Amino acid sequence: MKNLKPATEALIGSLQELLGPQGWVSGTADTGPYVSEWRGLYTGSTPLVVKPANTLEVSSVLALCNEHCVGVVPQGGHTGLAGGAIPGLEDKAEIVLSLERMNTIRSIDADNFTVTVEAGCVLANLQQAVTDAGRFFPLSLASEGSCQIGGNISTNAGGTAVLRYGNTRDLVLGLEVVLSDGRVLSNLNGVRKDNTGYDLKQLFVGAEGTLGVVTAATLKLFPAPRGTATALLAVADPGAIVRLFSGARDALGDEILAFETFPHIAMEMVEEHLPGHRSPLDAAYPWYVLIETAGQLSQALIDQHMLSFLEAGIESGLLTDGVLAQSEAQRAEIWKLRHGISEAQKLAGASIKHDVSVPVSVIPDFIARASDAVAQRLPGIRPVPFGHVGDGNIHFNLSQPEAMESGEFLDLWEEMNDLVHSLAVEMGGSFSAEHGIGYLKRDEMQRLSDPVDLDLMRAIKHALDPQGIMNPGKLLLP
Ligand SMILES: Cc1cc2nc3c(=O)[nH]c(=O)nc-3n(C[C@H](O)[C@H](O)[C@H](O)COP(=O)(O)OP(=O)(O)OC[C@H]3O[C@@H](n4cnc5c(N)ncnc54)[C@H](O)[C@@H]3O)c2cc1C
Repeated sequence: MKNLKPATEALIGSLQELLGPQGWVSGTADTGPYVSEWRGLYTGSTPLVVKPANTLEVSSVLALCNEHCVGVVPQGGHTGLAGGAIPGLEDKAEIVLSLERMNTIRSIDADNFTVTVEAGCVLANLQQAVTDAGRFFPLSLASEGSCQIGGNISTNAGGTAVLRYGNTRDLVLGLEVVLSDGRVLSNLNGVRKDNTGYDLKQLFVGAEGTLGVVTAATLKLFPAPRGTATALLAVADPGAIVRLFSGARDALGDEILAFETFPHIAMEMVEEHLPGHRSPLDAAYPWYVLIETAGQLSQALIDQHMLSFLEAGIESGLLTDGVLAQSEAQRAEIWKLRHGISEAQKLAGASIKHDVSVPVSVIPDFIARASDAVAQRLPGIRPVPFGHVGDGNIHFNLSQPEAMESGEFLDLWEEMNDLVHSLAVEMGGSFSAEHGIGYLKRDEMQRLSDPVDLDLMRAIKHALDPQGIMNPGKLLLP
């Protein structure tokens, strides 16, 4: 990074000429949407946003920037939660490379159960195209209407179906990547068996744009489920949630698609701040579980399995109440509650976020210990732990005490991170489960990661990007 130089007028002119009038924007007003973060945590700057239309243009842009030692920040749908796609946080002269114009689905091979798609395709559009072709792409997250598949790959996104289908990493069969010097690594062959040496594509999954620009991918598809059952359940406490989850795995096996949880305070925030969001249950309960099953059996059998599981839960006392969606509209209403939590929490005041994972069996202990630790430091703080129980991934988010000034609360960000991240790592977990490192957790990466891991990552970074132009200052400390 120390060798990087600001983009000169000459380089900017060359890039503009290369891409034509559709291929770039500059000036504070036009670059504004590309330099600030979804949550408003970071605002950066850039002299130029380039929007290449194809892989060849990406290659030419990187070759030019590499030649001039100018930093490049790849950007997808701009929904990342770690500041990874924000330019100019330390070096004011980085170029943003937006993939938004590269959004074509190149091909769907229904018999091979694969899709080949350009990086800038919005996830929801990809899901829909695959559904239209009679197949199923399982990656699903609340930001799916905006995030792009290239961003999902670059953050190794998790979401709500990891339990059954794995993280994005598990869905990638091949990648096309432009390296920092403009060379193109292309491996879009869509085979499931290929033991020809190092699995290079996996280096770029979760690399957050620090090793190259993902321009296209070949991804695994699955049979479209014939039946789906979705229920919202009321549960007493995290111990009961984990026991219920264990029982669900025993009873329903691979039919479980999602097993999500959130506490009463999250339901309150969603109902209060998001119009049209209402709990379908008659009363308020301490904790909720959203369980969804799906499979190739008939709808009647999928429903029957879910009902038997719910009856067993009521009989054992693990379940206090529950509602099974009777239509697609009711299913969507239930998911809206879960997907609305991040937005509602944002509207409920300042919040300090944590995206940690621990073994599923220690979730109750983790929530209890982390809640105690933050309350001791700041009485009145409001933990909102929600997330993907089935993967041990808890978004241990903290809302400000009601009477406190937001800025004063946010000043505690690092201190709270220190408490919560250290506890997650001590309990056998990770301080960054699915949102990545970006700019936000770069120092935590240095503090909490194994030094051998960090050494190897720096060696890989140096081998693939010797000038350090790719997303400088993100993920690894320079
Ligand atoms: C409401 C909400 C809910 C969310 N829920 C989840 C969730 O459940 N699970 C989860 O994992 N995440 C979640 N996220 C976070 C976010 O949506 C994901 O990280 C997503 O994968 C980012 O995709 P994007 O296209 O927006 O990437 P961006 O934000 O644009 O970029 C993210 C990172 O990837 C790099 N990048 C982007 N595109 C490329 C490319 N083509 N080549 C190389 N590098 C690239 C960027 O430089 C940056 O470092 C959520 C976010 C929001 C706002």
